[in-house]
Amino acid sequence: MRRHAWLIPAIGLLLSACRRRESVPPAPSPILPFDGAAAFDEVRRFVAIRPRDAATPGAERAALYLRDRLRELGVEAEVDAFADLCPVGTATFRNVIGRIPGQGKGLVILGSHYDTQAGIGAEFEGANDGGSSTGVLLELARCLAAGPARSWETWLVFFDGEEAMRRYGPADGLHGSRHMARQLAESGRAADVKAVIVLDMIGDRDLTVTVPRNGASWLISEVFESARLEGARDKFSLYPYEIGDDHDPFHQAGLPAVDLIDFHFGSGPGRNDYWHTMEDRMDKIAPESLDLVGRVALRLLARMADRVEP
Ligand SMILES: [Zn+2]
Repeated sequence: MRRHAWLIPAIGLLLSACRRRESVPPAPSPILPFDGAAAFDEVRRFVAIRPRDAATPGAERAALYLRDRLRELGVEAEVDAFADLCPVGTATFRNVIGRIPGQGKGLVILGSHYDTQAGIGAEFEGANDGGSSTGVLLELARCLAAGPARSWETWLVFFDGEEAMRRYGPADGLHGSRHMARQLAESGRAADVKAVIVLDMIGDRDLTVTVPRNGASWLISEVFESARLEGARDKFSLYPYEIGDDHDPFHQAGLPAVDLIDFHFGSGPGRNDYWHTMEDRMDKIAPESLDLVGRVALRLLARMADRVEP
């Protein structure tokens, strides 16, 4: 009898657990925490493809790699190849787009360029400039693909041709982002865009994110608040100038856009002397910096959910 006395309540518990499972919808799978070491590993593997100057075979290899890596992470992905005028004539550029479906028609774009500045050297890694944000975006793809469904669609966009061949202008630099801003306007999807969040040069061991003034002020405030909640408000500041980066074509088109960039990448505080030099290597970036920016980005998305959902 002692056995039965133990068994009957146990069976009862089991039955009630089964009933509960029938009546309550399953809990959404929790969002995976961002892993800075995994992001660092993504950067290391990605910059093995080098250099990645736009309109070269290296850039094409990088684009196909990113498409395949997104698919491995469970994200539907495609390469959008397009011709654009640049200083050497008309060239082919390739944006790589990963799409995570949402329940509504809203759209949040997370962006990073993956091309390298031309003419630095055959072994130029661009570990920080092009590499760091690309690794963070891949790790964000892993976290977001496994997380609960959002009310909006999320695009992870790897822009080609961010770097200017000679001098930034209507036919030099920002090719991928200008192309996508145009596509959004032409397809009528621009109205659905809730935010465009661009990451660039965010791997510096001495991280100081200098958010440029050209961006949506409410989104800049949300970045600072997200940084504060991650205990790193002191590493984020408003840059006193505008910065020409992939967020700008969206900002110019009137879409809410922001750029998380650390434009102090150098041998000492405030210096930028590693930028566009062979010094931009893996030994200049740190998993902790990637981790912090990844966590701030996830925090920002969570705060956006509170803000834009009905
Ligand atoms: Zn650059």
